[in-house]
Amino acid sequence: MSDQNIIEITGVEKRFGSFVAVSDLNLSLKEGEFFSLLGPSGCGKTTALRMIAGFQDYEKGEIRIGGQLMEDIPANKRPTNMVFQSYAIFPHLDVGDNVGFGLRKLGLSRKEMRERVSEALEMVELGGLERRKASELSGGQRQRVALARALVMRPKVLLLDEPLSALDKKLRENMQLEMRRLQQKLGITFVMVTHDQYEAMTMSDRIGVMFAGQLKQVDRPEQLYARPCNREVAAFIGGMNFLNARVTGENGDTLSVDVDGFGPLVVQKNPNVLASGTDILVGIRPEQLEIGAKQPDGYDAYLQGTISDVAFYGESVHYYVRCEGLDDAIVVAVPNYFHTVDHKPGEPVWLGVQNASVIDLGAREQ
Ligand code: ATP
Repeated sequence: MSDQNIIEITGVEKRFGSFVAVSDLNLSLKEGEFFSLLGPSGCGKTTALRMIAGFQDYEKGEIRIGGQLMEDIPANKRPTNMVFQSYAIFPHLDVGDNVGFGLRKLGLSRKEMRERVSEALEMVELGGLERRKASELSGGQRQRVALARALVMRPKVLLLDEPLSALDKKLRENMQLEMRRLQQKLGITFVMVTHDQYEAMTMSDRIGVMFAGQLKQVDRPEQLYARPCNREVAAFIGGMNFLNARVTGENGDTLSVDVDGFGPLVVQKNPNVLASGTDILVGIRPEQLEIGAKQPDGYDAYLQGTISDVAFYGESVHYYVRCEGLDDAIVVAVPNYFHTVDHKPGEPVWLGVQNASVIDLGAREQ
């Protein structure tokens, strides 16, 4: 990834009638970056992608690609190419003709066209399959043909709208790793839209999280997980226990807090928090809690409760623990090492937490 910005979006707004689909979007993407726009259905992420592609006009703001203002540049003249959710592959054409489809307008010789198609198919590891009928391909192969068809145009930026959503879980996971590898090898900027947080986290250098037309946070996956900016982002990226807390003191980068149930703890101030105050919310990831029949040693705060439910996920077990004075059960995720942790519903347990595992999520109402 270079330090150079390839896409610069400033103050972009898109309305459909009086409905604001994308509001004041500001975003800079680096050359060679894998960036994902993540958010629930209807949050405006596809609209944002379509505006970059040139398929969607907008009322306010500017989009620049490679320093050039895109306003009057039609989609087919932009240095972008888009891969759609539905692949849009022609089943009656063979793989080579599908991949070469967009090249026909470029006035290349037959030899040049053959070479570019073959190169694009090599990139997606479908080398030599030019004459295979598209209708005879598996789902994963079709997805790769769709990728090759976009890559054959040698775009500077590849735009991907939920590219893996039509694949089953196992294949999707393989393709996530494959696409990430391909992107790193080619060094092209990828901008992907997805509503799947795991997909965004495994593939991206950075993620932008959108809710209701607004971009709430842009960060690396690790930071997004460790320091979400508020409750809705925290809840969207993995599991989270939310607890009310009161700030009792402040010292440099830390806050002394009195957390419901656990009592006094010291948390790092979250630099991403949008609004703070005395009554704040804190979050604890389920895997950051210790659980035991006895009080575990060496934690900064403790809580006692009773197991209400147990959910077995294979690689981990989730315990739901009801605690006096707390409305919601606390969820504890325990890795299933050697099947050693085995609590049953109705069992009394102790929970332990470290200061470092408690996340400041800012003001309760945001
Ligand atoms: P999904 O994951 O379901 O595709 P999304 O986050 O990509 O959702 P968009 O497709 O960008 O969301 O749509 C954002 C909002 O704008 C939605 O409420 C949608 O109904 C609305 N919208 C999108 N296109 C149009 C249109 N052409 N006319 C009117 N409303 C539209």
